[in-house]
Amino acid sequence: MKYCSTRSSTQARSGYPHFCEILLEGLAPDGGLYLPESYPPVDEATLARWRGVYERVGYAALAFEVLSLYIDDIAPADLKAICDKTYTQAIFGTAQIVPLTRLLDAQTPEGQAPLYLEALSNGPTLAFKDMAMQLLGNLFEFELGRRGEELNILGATSGDTGSAAEYAMRGKKGVRVFMTSPYGRMSPFQQAQMFSLMDGNIHNIAVDGVFDDCQDMVKAVSNDLDFKRQYRIGTVNSINWARLMAQVVYYFAGYFQATRSNLEKVSFTVPSGNFGNVCAGHVARMMGLPIARLVVATNENDVLDEFFRTGVYRVRASADTHETSSPSMDISKASNFERFVFDLLGRDGTRLKALFGEALQQTGRFDLSADPAFARTTEDFGFESGRSTHADRLDTIRTTFKRFGVLIDTHTADALKVAREHLQSGVPMIVLETALPVKFAATIVEALGREPDRPPKFEGIEALPKRVTRMAADPAAIKAYIAQHCR
Ligand SMILES: *Cc1c(COP(=O)(O)O)cnc(C)c1O
Repeated sequence: MKYCSTRSSTQARSGYPHFCEILLEGLAPDGGLYLPESYPPVDEATLARWRGVYERVGYAALAFEVLSLYIDDIAPADLKAICDKTYTQAIFGTAQIVPLTRLLDAQTPEGQAPLYLEALSNGPTLAFKDMAMQLLGNLFEFELGRRGEELNILGATSGDTGSAAEYAMRGKKGVRVFMTSPYGRMSPFQQAQMFSLMDGNIHNIAVDGVFDDCQDMVKAVSNDLDFKRQYRIGTVNSINWARLMAQVVYYFAGYFQATRSNLEKVSFTVPSGNFGNVCAGHVARMMGLPIARLVVATNENDVLDEFFRTGVYRVRASADTHETSSPSMDISKASNFERFVFDLLGRDGTRLKALFGEALQQTGRFDLSADPAFARTTEDFGFESGRSTHADRLDTIRTTFKRFGVLIDTHTADALKVAREHLQSGVPMIVLETALPVKFAATIVEALGREPDRPPKFEGIEALPKRVTRMAADPAAIKAYIAQHCR
């Protein structure tokens, strides 16, 4: 499988890279995002075989099947070993890895299509980002070892991404992580999760400033090309194709659990921020997984909902981004959205360059409302959308706990609220659960007047010793820190 950039013209499509060449890269050189040259079709026979693989052998074996279609430059035995090592019950808590829970009670209307939660948040940091990041850690270690190289991952986090990256990379040979976060702004649980890691290759940097200051520091360092090259600076942000690819697998696993035969369809509702999670659903659907609808759920930061309702994509200034109780969806601009628009507009790289490389840069918006392609977002691509607010979130958490005895986190609550507005008769709806409630305890207390349960291994983590360096929001300071720790 070869990879193209969303901004490359069709003529330029020779000399495209293979998987391992783009694994350690972020953006394509032309500023676009990498996607496979075409989506490998999964025919009826293959889907039937994969159902058996998941049911009889397990998630790791299913992951190997899916990933094999996208990776032709790692030997099958090596790739299999990487999948087996990543998706274990010890790391993800259950044999199914992503078990479904049906929401059903006496009040549920007779004949309503089943509504499920798919648990993606039982990994080491209790958020769905572990699903991809754990694989990435093992892929990085393999590829860097093979090349005899090192990589220094520099990132900015407001919570979930940073901890998922650190838990995936801790103790990995050839990798160091330098993770900046805004001083004092993460929840105590999230701070404890990250700062209690004592691994020598993990560096926590608490910056005097807000998340945007952290991101600006990371950008400033990445724009210093000499420094970047000298210190082999890389990223693990959600535009990395390997993360998206890893996420495709759980759409298949969710489908197999919710259906008995491959003639059935299901829909998914996905709590969305940077559009990485739902974009993986789009890829699964393009491969041929029988998905009826992909419902994009946003919070008050509704850039994506606005696009799917109106055809206008309008990024927000960071000052206009609301701080909400589902903070991992607080985005001003959805960094993976370009991948979907590329497919929507018939993979026209020249046009994508004009939209994302020019119009969006200059005016902060583009308008596809008059484009015939926009009318196809639902019919041909299955997309629908909705939004949720703080009041909806509280109400959904409360009702779900009362009716079903199931405690959900704030992001999952946004998705469940929107999912209920998009049920179709005869089509099971799977809501992706993206975090455990303990990560966002304050809102749970607000909704229910009680603390969420905490998995035993996290008892008392706030009291553990912390390993963190406080720093001014100054790119020179972090450069000096990196240089000092790479000797
Ligand atoms: C990252 C995250 C999201 C948003 O996912 P995207 O891939 O950015 O759309 C939703 N919920 C939680 C808990 C997250 O950590």
